[in-house]
Amino acid sequence: MPRPPLYSSARAVVPEFRLSTLSPSASSSDELFGHPKGLYICFMTEMWERFAFYGMKALLLLYLVKHHLFAQADGTLLLGTYAGLAYALPLLGGLLADRYLGMRKAVLFGGILLVLGQLGMAWTGSAATGTTPANAVRDDVAIQVMYFSLALIGVGVGFLKPNISTIVGRLYSADDPRRDSGFTIFYMGINVGAWLASIVVAYVGEYIGWGYGFGLAGVMMALGLVQFVMGQKHLHGHAEPADPVMLEAPVFAGVSREWAIYLGGLVLAVGVWQMLQTRIDFAPLTAMLGGHQATLTEVVAVLMGVALYAWFVKLMFSGLSRKEKGGMVMLMVLITVSALFWGLYEQTYGPWVLMAEIGMDRNTLGIEWSSGQTTNFGALFVVLFSFPFAWLWPKLDKAGLNPSYPAKFAWGLVFCGLSFGILAYAAAHPGEAGKTSLWWMILAYAVLVMGEMVLSPVGLSAVTRLSIPRAVGLMMGAWFLFSAFGEIIAGRLGTWAAIEPDAAGKYDVPAALALYADVFTQMMWIGLAAGALLFLATPLLKRLTRE
Ligand code: GLN
Repeated sequence: MPRPPLYSSARAVVPEFRLSTLSPSASSSDELFGHPKGLYICFMTEMWERFAFYGMKALLLLYLVKHHLFAQADGTLLLGTYAGLAYALPLLGGLLADRYLGMRKAVLFGGILLVLGQLGMAWTGSAATGTTPANAVRDDVAIQVMYFSLALIGVGVGFLKPNISTIVGRLYSADDPRRDSGFTIFYMGINVGAWLASIVVAYVGEYIGWGYGFGLAGVMMALGLVQFVMGQKHLHGHAEPADPVMLEAPVFAGVSREWAIYLGGLVLAVGVWQMLQTRIDFAPLTAMLGGHQATLTEVVAVLMGVALYAWFVKLMFSGLSRKEKGGMVMLMVLITVSALFWGLYEQTYGPWVLMAEIGMDRNTLGIEWSSGQTTNFGALFVVLFSFPFAWLWPKLDKAGLNPSYPAKFAWGLVFCGLSFGILAYAAAHPGEAGKTSLWWMILAYAVLVMGEMVLSPVGLSAVTRLSIPRAVGLMMGAWFLFSAFGEIIAGRLGTWAAIEPDAAGKYDVPAALALYADVFTQMMWIGLAAGALLFLATPLLKRLTRE
């Protein structure tokens, strides 16, 4: 008899998994361009959610360093902690929507928290006075408002992101051949939102005012939410709670289960608010980390990672077949590798942005790009490369040349390493004015995104194919959890490239570029060495999954 899933929010992240319970798709009259209209409602909602998320990401480090005069290392650590929590919380948001809230209410609640958080970020208080992080006098109230706003956004993403994708899955019946293309269109929405954000939010934030940038992200998220509410009828009840009566039942002091969840979300935001700013004051650990204290989030992440591996070891002794075991071992290797990949990849929002700010001539193609705007090339290349890659895989498959999962991941690491090599070379060879050209960064992004294309979407497919069926939901949760670990690792690795201004608040450009050349070379070797190891392990991993 099949055992129940270990983690019931399977469909929060893998919509395919409850196919048998899906009702047939809506009548063809409710379609647009060959897809259910609801797809476009979800597309727009997720597009504006990612617009807010990536707009924030493009601005956050610059804002911390320039407005509040944070030390760069503290800035990258906060960026990693915040983004890490935003990728870890969807586990909870998916679970709560699955069991109680339903997707529509979860998206709405998450969206409201996101808007409030963005608007809170828009209140920037007064800029720090002083010239360096060491002598800065900061607006502590504004900084606390910022931490709380980041917490609201993190919890908001947790409620919104997994559930909006679930709705997409539910718009198609089990055997609808349009599912994959529906998800491709949806994934485009993610990257169009990210791209627009880097162009517009970064511009407004850096050139007009930080608060306007954050506020704009909030306003667009709010409009996205309005169209989500107005488009409800196109969702045809697919996003409703499983048991509305249970949701209305009071759980304490006359408060219904639904409102208890919302209150719980706010309490969680208070916890995250504290977590974002809690450091571990333990001298030996701080010394080990190059003088930059560990964050509480890092410690919790390590404990969660250990718990997951312990669960995995236990599973290995629970009577699985040889093939099942092999698949799970391969999957754990791939998921682990993905954290390293994202740890390097997310340097783009950390030291890459700072390099653009400090050591780059950003005048290219007749445009003076702002530092935050340089992040647009990531999303742009994802959109551009989606078409050739969608064409490539089936072609390679036909020719019997489609690489195995571990080989693809190894390529992902190699491309990632090479992109750092390109930027390290650029930093070591500045032009006549002493700065590097933006073209190097554009090239580095192109190579990095090649790595993303062979790893990120492939990873999702690997989870659904390699996991034992009853653990798919958990493993998909683990996939995103390891993205969260990647963000946290990125924050830590970013401290390697931190450089502080002189007493007058000016950066020593040659010294900064020399540091970037050095650190990016190390990151290149990490990527290449990990890729090489994975290539070596590939035949073994392949053998494990054979019958
Ligand atoms: N870029 C994708 C998104 O924002 C996936 C990122 C990830 O898994 N780390 O949804």
